[in-house]
Amino acid sequence: MESVISMTSVSRRYPRGVVALRDVSLDVPAGQFVAVMGATGSGKSTLLHCAAGLDLPTGGQVRLAGHDLTTMGEAQRTRLRRDHAGFVFQAYNLLSELSVRQNVALPFRLGGPRRHTVDEVLAQVGLAGFGKRPVGELSGGQRQRVAIARALVTAPAVVFADEPTGALDPTTGGRILALLRAAADRDGAAVLMVTHDPAAAAWSDRLVLLHDGEIAHDGPAPAAAEIADRLRGVSAVAA
Ligand code: ADP
Ligand code: MG
Repeated sequence: MESVISMTSVSRRYPRGVVALRDVSLDVPAGQFVAVMGATGSGKSTLLHCAAGLDLPTGGQVRLAGHDLTTMGEAQRTRLRRDHAGFVFQAYNLLSELSVRQNVALPFRLGGPRRHTVDEVLAQVGLAGFGKRPVGELSGGQRQRVAIARALVTAPAVVFADEPTGALDPTTGGRILALLRAAADRDGAAVLMVTHDPAAAAWSDRLVLLHDGEIAHDGPAPAAAEIADRLRGVSAVAA
């Protein structure tokens, strides 16, 4: 079966010579949870944005759920994201004046596939009975669970997460990571998560370390202490 995410020799060059990604190849199969780590400016966000078709590489090819993003127009890419991707992103913030239910149902209003009901995913994330509450009244951890419910309601082939536990305490963060883990294990989603936290990365199956726009390491995710060591190793090269 084809990988859900397939990046081949992807480069992203910005004007004035900044190369955010160089010759990155990454294939993620269904059911795999991948953590992407690296120093600030190493290209993590660019990698995630290129994989999701939110940004276009200047070289190479990106396939998402079997479709070549790099030859599509913007409208087609938007539809592809709607039908196959879920986002737990800072930039995809919840609408705090709307209720929990309205936020989770947003992908449906945009025409996304109704593969689960709002009640199903709210129960999954432990927010059954919270549907009518305005999101603005919830705690940070509850809000992030709403974001995950919204990401999962279309049963996407891939979930993109950018620092999903960055603002949460370890216990609350653990709940979020368990939900991403379940999206991979139970729903067979490919999960691509950017994180700075070795403890968060330890929930993944596979660790990808970026250094200066290149993949410096790609292998099975070890325990948190070893992830921290590896991260220091890569950052030391930068210093
Ligand atoms: P990270 O997420 O790992 O911190 P980014 O992917 O945001 O890294 O950025 C990688 C590199 O690309 C950095 O050097 C950054 O300054 C540069 N960069 C990111 N976005 C832009 C942009 N829109 N224009 C120019 N340079 C950019
Ligand atoms: Mg970033």
